[in-house]
Amino acid sequence: MIGGGQLARMTAQAAVGLGIEFRVLAGTAADSAAQVCAGTTIGDHRSASDVLAFGAVCDVVTFDHEHVPGVHLAVLERLTSVRPGREALRFTQDKRAMRERLGALGVRCPAYQPVTGLAEVLDFTRRHAAGRGTGWPVVLKATTGGYDGKGVWVCPSADAAAEVLSHGVALLAEEHVAFDRELAVLVARSPAGQGVAYPVVQTVQRDGICREVIAPAPNLDDDLATRAQETGLRIAAELGVTGLLAVEMFEAGGELLVNELAMRPHNSGHWTIDGAVTSQFEQHLRAVLDLPLGSPAPTAPFTVMVNVLGGDGDPYPRLVHVMAADPGARVHLYGKQVRPGRKIGHVTVTGRDLPGLRERAWRAASWLSRGTEEPVPELPGPAAPAVAAVRVRTGFRRGR
Ligand code: ADP
Repeated sequence: MIGGGQLARMTAQAAVGLGIEFRVLAGTAADSAAQVCAGTTIGDHRSASDVLAFGAVCDVVTFDHEHVPGVHLAVLERLTSVRPGREALRFTQDKRAMRERLGALGVRCPAYQPVTGLAEVLDFTRRHAAGRGTGWPVVLKATTGGYDGKGVWVCPSADAAAEVLSHGVALLAEEHVAFDRELAVLVARSPAGQGVAYPVVQTVQRDGICREVIAPAPNLDDDLATRAQETGLRIAAELGVTGLLAVEMFEAGGELLVNELAMRPHNSGHWTIDGAVTSQFEQHLRAVLDLPLGSPAPTAPFTVMVNVLGGDGDPYPRLVHVMAADPGARVHLYGKQVRPGRKIGHVTVTGRDLPGLRERAWRAASWLSRGTEEPVPELPGPAAPAVAAVRVRTGFRRGR
């Protein structure tokens, strides 16, 4: 696996269980996966020689991020099996290519337009004002290189857009979707063409960072859930994805809009370690090694995952309190240096009582993060459907 972050660290854990010899190309020995993985090579994923030397000793190469340059992937593909391959990965590296391809497949996405100057942004907002509000705010997104909301700017005004444009990066303008909530579907596809889909989850982001995942998404319409899973499997097949594909979506007025793709284990799938028959990390290994896929079935009515973000000091001394307070909470820490807002771990709880589970997961995560209890945020969701007034006849007389 190229990249030594927490995704590689958790994949290494799954590889141990399967008895697979697992190697990591990590930037430094302090990287999350490098700390725990015996087969670690230190190298730079942007260096052709490092990537090729690493690939030469692997039967299959896969990724913990999407930042290996396409030119290196092309050479790597001549050397070994690269899964997912360069052709598929391109759509996670370039948001414009992704939007164009999904549009050609008839998959609904937010309206967008590549922009290079303010005149084009203003033109875009004018065209998208019709019917859906004022056209403001407008979302500007870096075409390449963004993650965790870095590279996404919600601009309330022309001045704000001009400021973003002044950085000189390639940008897409996108309509600001007034979504009811965010959903994600995780699917796996093997080179043999087998596919599986996990239950659709609800994700909650704050400042562009995923904070909470609920599996399955509560009160999701059955048809919409099926459509989301079908969309995920279809995109995986059409794009020739091998391994995992996470599809991030907006639910808006009973419709689904696809926002983003990732072809690797994904934050929206961390819940599967404790809440599904096959974890996403094992599933990714099975898929890239062309093994039969495991069951994606959930093992509990609900699983709630809350990320532990770097906050106030070291989380390790606080672990004892979390463990003592809630023996049923599953804590995962990534061994990462604490920086404010950085993902350093997650907590998962499973069970039936969703409000109670959310409270426990938020309590444990916020305690690890800053030694205080954050209030459980309100869960966004579609407005309850209007219930038509029904006249109930309590009885009737025959013969009238
Ligand atoms: P990244 O690739 O950095 O994760 P995303 O495209 O996934 O960027 O955007 C991060 C978050 O920003 C989304 O989860 C969503 O909350 C918000 N966002 C992105 N695009 C839009 C949009 N067009 N309308 C409204 N919110 C958006």
